[in-house]
Amino acid sequence: MTIANQELREGLVKCSLCGALTEWDDSLEVPPLCVACWDNRAGADNEVAASQRAYYEAHKDEVAAYQRAYYEAHKDEVAAYQRAYREAHKDEVAAYKRRIAGDTEEGIFTALGLPFIPPGQRE
Ligand SMILES: [Zn+2]
Repeated sequence: MTIANQELREGLVKCSLCGALTEWDDSLEVPPLCVACWDNRAGADNEVAASQRAYYEAHKDEVAAYQRAYYEAHKDEVAAYQRAYREAHKDEVAAYKRRIAGDTEEGIFTALGLPFIPPGQRE
């Protein structure tokens, strides 16, 4: 066996439907499917959906742990991305907030469909 073949084999997993060996991207959080099953999945949507639900049910703790771990490992990048996004869009965000609520407290009540009660008259 050549090194190339060994490397290929290591990337192979069993198809979750028919058991055939197939290449699969582990980052996809769905059960592995071989090419034939993947191509047929439109005709087997319910089975795949049921299989995915069952997979998710069986692995949700792992999936949640994976997502937490991912977030922990990338939170600086996520925070930086969110800051960059806010910086790049702050005018739109401010305009949007003004549009839905107005600049005044009265505008917020109006936007919510509530009668405006001046602060002194509230219980
Ligand atoms: Zn298959």
